[in-house]
Amino acid sequence: MTVRSYDRLYIDGDWREPAGGDRIEVISPHTEQVIASVPDGTAADMDRAVEAARRSFDGGEWQRTPVADRIAAVERLANLYEKRIPEFAEIISAENGSPISFSMAAQAGASWLAISSFVTLARAFDWESERAGVFVPSVTIRREPVGVVAAIVPWNVPQMVAMPKVIPALLAGCSVVLKPSPETPLDAYLLAELIDEVGLPAGVFNMVPGGREAGQHLVSHAGVDKVAFTGSTAAGRTIARICGEQLKRCSLELGGKSAAIVLDDADLGVVTQGLKMAAIINSGQGCTNQTRVLASRSNYANVLDAVVETVRSMKVGEPADPTVEIGPMVSQRHQGRVQDYIALGESEGAKVVIGGPGRPADQPTGWYVRPTVFSEARNEMRICQEEIFGPVITVIPYVDQADAVRIANDSEYGLAGSVWTTDLERGNDIARRVRTGIFGINQFTADFLAPSGGFKASGIGREFGAEGLAMYTEIKAIYPPPAAGQLGTFTDAG
Ligand code: NAD
Repeated sequence: MTVRSYDRLYIDGDWREPAGGDRIEVISPHTEQVIASVPDGTAADMDRAVEAARRSFDGGEWQRTPVADRIAAVERLANLYEKRIPEFAEIISAENGSPISFSMAAQAGASWLAISSFVTLARAFDWESERAGVFVPSVTIRREPVGVVAAIVPWNVPQMVAMPKVIPALLAGCSVVLKPSPETPLDAYLLAELIDEVGLPAGVFNMVPGGREAGQHLVSHAGVDKVAFTGSTAAGRTIARICGEQLKRCSLELGGKSAAIVLDDADLGVVTQGLKMAAIINSGQGCTNQTRVLASRSNYANVLDAVVETVRSMKVGEPADPTVEIGPMVSQRHQGRVQDYIALGESEGAKVVIGGPGRPADQPTGWYVRPTVFSEARNEMRICQEEIFGPVITVIPYVDQADAVRIANDSEYGLAGSVWTTDLERGNDIARRVRTGIFGINQFTADFLAPSGGFKASGIGREFGAEGLAMYTEIKAIYPPPAAGQLGTFTDAG
């Protein structure tokens, strides 16, 4: 087993003693046993990390390193990372209970691919170029690093959401303080070890695990220029308020309650397969999961059967088993929360078709829930409006195509969605009407060379793509000296 405990924090280019003695225990969601522990970072630790990041940024060594050399350093990290993919996968599955097949492909493998994708993007990125002006013949438009970045990530896909923060920040010349979630600090330790091996200037990368309080201290710290946050919409609002007061840059990747619209002409075989990825990925603990499946009244029974078939076909069990597709919930608290939502759905009048309250009979320990499908759900029910973050799907009837789009958009969130149809013109039309940042036609995926992010309460800003790299830069316009006899002011324009 590659899982182990740690005693130090990664600050200022080395492993440092924590300021306090408290520890975070990492508990296996499958065995409910403590598997490792790490220091619980305090405000004093965050202060030290931000001061180191600030010193390194203001000292200027990394930001003045030519971008080709910064890219080369990140490529070295990609090479080291690739060799450790199975280890990352094993650690993440042990921490948060993700099925190992998902962890290999989507937690660890995809995180490595994300690093390489940012290298591709950084090579093509417009770091500095000339533009013709109205008053002057040419202006230099430059992308400079945004400064010290606080990167705060959740537990569900901890590396996959750390990569689009840490990597573009490093490529842009920023310094970073990464705060992993208390449920999943161990994969962040392995990342810090690899970054240490790459050998960046001291203070450019720092990693301090901690809880909400330490996170909020980090966000509020005057030495931080930008907060890059992924997590709940509730925490996102608090962070946005603090950043607003301090006029700090912030990008927020928050919750979702996305819809999959199944049209009557859809191939239900494709839907059954596709919903595994679109609706229940990572045991339902995925921000883009389309847990509202919309079906027309006339085709409702067929779609419901397809959804139930999808859920029934997915094996529930121990995350380390490569044939398992649904593992436990991350924590006992979260298990209780999902079970409460299942009970709430019944009390709201929705009908359990498969699953229901309680735990799977064949899982005596672990924070498992019964994968559940509700029929006769109405979009105004809380189970259709609130993010449950578990394997719980509601199948909601619609009258016609316009009604389906209306229901999909009747949500405070706007993260993702999909449409399933054999009529691509209708599919494209719907893709343009649903107000979300990511949308799939007969599939659901999010490519690293394309931007990802949310409309409405699902967030502000984008990650991945050139747009996601640009979020770690400030734009500067430099005016060259005027030619002899030219004043170079706007009064010349007349
Ligand atoms: P969370 O908001 O409770 O915590 C996320 C991280 O923020 C943790 O590291 C936590 O310690 C820290 N934190 C919490 N409150 C904070 C505060 N006030 N100030 C600073 N830091 C704070 O979320 P979670 O339960 O860990 O993660 C699940 C949520 O993440 C879901 O809502 C999910 O949709 C969302 N998510 C979104 C995306 C996306 O790309 N939009 C991706 C993954 C997860």
